[in-house]
Amino acid sequence: MSVTTETRPLDRLSDFPAIPNGWAYLDTAATAQKPQVVVDAITRAYGETYATVHRGVYQRSADMTVAYEAARKAVARFIGAGSSDEIVFVRGATEAINLVAQCWAGTQLKAGDRILLSMLEHHSNIVPWQMIAEARGVAIDVLPLTPDHRIDLDAMERMITPAHKLVALGHVSNVLGSVLDAKRATEIAHSVGAKILLDGCQSVPRITVDVKAIGCDFYVFSGHKLYGPTGIGVLWAKPELLDAMPPYQGGGSMIDKVSFAKTTYAPPPGRFEAGTPHIVGALGLHAAIDYVESIGLDAIHAHETALVTATREALSGINSVRLYGPADSAGIVSFTIEGVHPHDIGTILDEERVAIRAGHHCAQPLMEALGVEATARASFGVYNGPADVEALVRGIERVTRIFK
Ligand code: PMP
Repeated sequence: MSVTTETRPLDRLSDFPAIPNGWAYLDTAATAQKPQVVVDAITRAYGETYATVHRGVYQRSADMTVAYEAARKAVARFIGAGSSDEIVFVRGATEAINLVAQCWAGTQLKAGDRILLSMLEHHSNIVPWQMIAEARGVAIDVLPLTPDHRIDLDAMERMITPAHKLVALGHVSNVLGSVLDAKRATEIAHSVGAKILLDGCQSVPRITVDVKAIGCDFYVFSGHKLYGPTGIGVLWAKPELLDAMPPYQGGGSMIDKVSFAKTTYAPPPGRFEAGTPHIVGALGLHAAIDYVESIGLDAIHAHETALVTATREALSGINSVRLYGPADSAGIVSFTIEGVHPHDIGTILDEERVAIRAGHHCAQPLMEALGVEATARASFGVYNGPADVEALVRGIERVTRIFK
């Protein structure tokens, strides 16, 4: 088969040293491969310019501090934050959500309050809320999905009450690729006075995000899904929320003054960054943001949409394949093949040098709602092109022949 896409391929494969010729890497929703510019930024930081930040009186450390804070500014600009003081560096989205759960929900919510989640959330946007809900006597409600697998915002309008103090939703589903109408969800949350957190793990690499235009209260994402390093992620919050939140962890860097009589804390974002931070991770994330911005998210989105459309069209021609998610999903296609376990699909595709993810994708409640144990998932990035879709479809045709 030959796959054509409506847009010209981005032709970025050669930027990625860890993708060998002929390997279709279709697991970007799990983690993105790294462009050479990110590898170079990390190598340069450790190999040439390395020093600690915020403390050193020597020039090297002052320069590293400038670079670290420049990364924070790049993140702020990238997601439309008002100021870099609103950007807290964390290990990843998981840590960011735990931070908000403990420092905001853990201090603001009381027995009788409610949290609103959705059926498609990643476990990291479920479990931290369950932990805090149990500790504080708070209840959790779950939004259903529409028949085309989006978070049902009409149901949200019906279900939300003034008892709901927090709504936490995925901006783009890591399983279905469905894109949330984040502005509408925010307006609905705010109509009852609830705060809203958006999980941006799958959105920041795929669509333009502007937290001020959305109007949300908290936004979180992981650097490694945005072509950056692992171990670095971002919590953005409205400044008045960060100001009112107690520290997450105690230690160096997060203090104003320490004495055994009384310790006072630094203002945000330092208050939430105890210990020596992931300095080089922040520099790598900065390089990744520069890389993504140099291509442009509109171009990335158009490119991934064309690949998704081509994949869905080709797979819908195979009888035993069932597709999940809406047709306009962002960069992600989940599917099952009748009578074949997704792990077998993944193993056979691996023999064809096609890397996909098979399993529950850290979204077990969603699997239950879809009535499956697991799905196979292909997810695209800037390095993919029509040849990867062809390899995927060829591999799936082989799976169907083997299991006939
Ligand atoms: N939310 C979503 C939608 C995700 O896809 C992921 C990663 N699979 C996470 C949260 C958790 O991110 P991390 O493991 O990088 O903290």
